[in-house]
Amino acid sequence: MDKKLIIVEERCPQNHACPAVNVCPVGALTQEAHKAPVIDEAKCIKCGKCSNFCPKKALVLQTL
Ligand code: SF4
Repeated sequence: MDKKLIIVEERCPQNHACPAVNVCPVGALTQEAHKAPVIDEAKCIKCGKCSNFCPKKALVLQTL
């Protein structure tokens, strides 16, 4: 089953260093200043660690 990680920017307060960046085992998440994080699709292995971690549910792993 294909999965896709999406970022729901409206849920991200964008006022802090995203802690999920350090949860990703492959370094697929990056953040510029306090903006919502950005996913490197080429690196993401769709493991779901960031989506399980984000307390705002701003990272969502969708099943396609
Ligand atoms: S789903 Fe896993 S690999 Fe992809 S960005 Fe989140 S933590 Fe990183």
